Amino acid sequence: MTKVRFAPSPTGKLHVGNVRTAIFNFLFARKAGGTFLLRIDDTDTERSTQAYEDGIRTDLTWLGITWDDTFKQSERFERYDAAAEKLKAKGLLYPCYETGDELERKRRLQMANGRPPVYDRAALELTEADRAKLEAEGRKPHWRFKLSGNPVEWDDMVRGHVSIETSSLSDPILIREDGSYLYTLPSVVDDIEAEITHIIRGEDHTTNSGAQIEIFEALGGAAPKFGHQALLVGADGGKLSKRTGSLGIAELRDEEGIEPMAIMSLLSRIGTSDPVDAFADVDGLLEGFDLGKLSRSPARFDPEELKRVNAKLLHTMPYAEAQPRLAMLGADGGEAFWNAVRPNLERLDDAKSWMRLVEGPVTPVIEDAGYAAAAAEHLPAGTLTEASWGEWTNALKAATGRKGKDLFMPLRLMLTGEPRGPEMAVLLPLLGRDTVLRRLQGETA
Ligand code: GLU
Repeated sequence: MTKVRFAPSPTGKLHVGNVRTAIFNFLFARKAGGTFLLRIDDTDTERSTQAYEDGIRTDLTWLGITWDDTFKQSERFERYDAAAEKLKAKGLLYPCYETGDELERKRRLQMANGRPPVYDRAALELTEADRAKLEAEGRKPHWRFKLSGNPVEWDDMVRGHVSIETSSLSDPILIREDGSYLYTLPSVVDDIEAEITHIIRGEDHTTNSGAQIEIFEALGGAAPKFGHQALLVGADGGKLSKRTGSLGIAELRDEEGIEPMAIMSLLSRIGTSDPVDAFADVDGLLEGFDLGKLSRSPARFDPEELKRVNAKLLHTMPYAEAQPRLAMLGADGGEAFWNAVRPNLERLDDAKSWMRLVEGPVTPVIEDAGYAAAAAEHLPAGTLTEASWGEWTNALKAATGRKGKDLFMPLRLMLTGEPRGPEMAVLLPLLGRDTVLRRLQGETA
């Protein structure tokens, strides 16, 4: 049974970079008919906040990423303590007393001598008496995991064969001086106990995975399969930054008017061999989704592309889906209205300005009073329908000799006050006879 997890730390907001990991895990689980777990990595109690956690849940839900199960690491400290004891008993977790300054000095010296800045394991040489002395001085230990020094190898779902030389890594610190846990050990304990089958995360974790695989083995669990996707970069290949445009999910939603499926569509396809398209639902995304299609080089995130996908989604969005939101915006002009305006939308709330065009008041732009009079005179009798526009413009063409832009554009300007907008044929019945005639007389209506 496939089981994956997304494990954000509630020390910040979701953004296009970390949410891409959530999307991959979610789609991977759905595709396999497996389970998707949301784990909140809040062992850093100083920096984790409830507000960030709430924000993460809100943003995921808005995106349509639902989880089958969820828990917080802060509720599980006794499990991590038990695992730490197990590692200590095996001699694989050892106390170190160097201060940050001391470690920094060692590193500088190593680099000056042309050696890699790898922890020298001096703490392993300490005798019981040395430790007692240090503790009597008031020093508290941090704890390091003793790596094997052997290469750790795995077949990565994205990167193919990976080999990490643990001999060139520092033994990772698992427990800080104040007794708090870094992410490394709790994550392994949780992955074992939750029976996670695949870990899909960013390639910045590849080295961690080498160490974590050894911790899985030390705790008697089999390591899951791993997939490390390449990170996102900006459209120009540079680092993602504020300059790229909005990156936060809440910001894209609340300020940029981006649809959830636009984010899902783009982020699940960039960096793969598949073209980016606007998918209306998760089923569409699932078709063809395969981590194996991910390129090993960074995926480019272009905010302009996101806007294009967003517009494309709106252009085919069914009225039933848009309706509740249109109603909230005060822009629910019915299905015919929606179908008329949606090809003109870049964001859904643009519908508001088109609604105003129907409801008025609109100040008509009349450049030729004679043409306005002719237009009023030839307006088809009775209730205006979608066929009226054709009849009307044919009659006007015959009566005035105007054609093309000269025929159509003044009508648009007189009826909407704008040079561009939804299709006039659809707009006409929405405006209704009375409003059309008033606007043709130059009245703000
Ligand atoms: N909390 C970790 C992070 O956000 C989780 C990494 C993982 O997926 O194992 O980087």
